[in-house]
Amino acid sequence: MPERKQFVVIGLGRFGGSVCKELVNQGHEVLAMDTDEEKVNIYANIATHAVVANSTDESALKSLGIRNFDNVVVAIGDNIQASILTTLVLKEMGVKNVLVKAKNDYHHKVLEKIGADQIVHPEMDMGRRVAQQMSDEKVIDFIELSDEYSIVELIATAKIEGKTLIDLDIRAKYGVTILAIKKGDDINISPQPDYEICFGDLLIVIGHNKDIRRFEDIAM
Ligand code: ATP
Ligand code: ATP
Ligand code: CA
Repeated sequence: MPERKQFVVIGLGRFGGSVCKELVNQGHEVLAMDTDEEKVNIYANIATHAVVANSTDESALKSLGIRNFDNVVVAIGDNIQASILTTLVLKEMGVKNVLVKAKNDYHHKVLEKIGADQIVHPEMDMGRRVAQQMSDEKVIDFIELSDEYSIVELIATAKIEGKTLIDLDIRAKYGVTILAIKKGDDINISPQPDYEICFGDLLIVIGHNKDIRRFEDIAM
């Protein structure tokens, strides 16, 4: 169980609402805030505290003790001006980690300049993810470790059925490592070199994107 932390989520649209629910699920305390009373009423039963407040109002943030929170999520979407002003006030108050949802590149640039600690583009990121997953039917899931390295979950094809890691000489030939192999609900962490791959196994592979692609194209 991760350490119990305290968060503020400002803006309870689909993105902020989902962040709020998941933080609560993960066992954290969440103060949810929105100018819209209806939204706040919905989140009163979900968040630890839910308040109707305008985050551009510095005195309102002060009286709520927002400066005592280390982590604040600004999930105001359409009102870019309110998002920017809120971020500015939070950073001036000394909040350590401010994560902001950006709507476009201009918004992103301004947020960067005024000191937002993390800037996310959920619609753009999700769009890319969906496209990447749909464009390659062997890729079940992936985590980008950096621009160049990833962990990818690949479904074993009939072509490699019955072969071992030694037969395929995966690390030596492709420079990628199989971290684990999933078979239904079973997961085999750091499989032995003589493990025989079955059709439908999920191979969890770490490596350079170029090498993972080479492994996929040639071996599988
Ligand atoms: P999503 O796509 O996540 O559903 P959105 O990008 O469409 O949301 P909005 O609906 O514009 O975003 O904003 C999200 C929420 O932020 C709304 O519920 C809105 O009432 C709230 N909000 C907007 N401005 C403020 C503000 N100054 N203070 C607090 N809440 C605000
Ligand atoms: P290495 O020096 O590459 O670690 P090794 O000489 O110690 O390998 P083994 O561990 O017996 O030899 O494995 C033989 C070969 O099988 C390795 O060189 C590698 O290509 C492949 N292999 C074994 N385990 C894995 C793994 N988890 N992921 C990818 N390839 C593996
Ligand atoms: Ca939206």
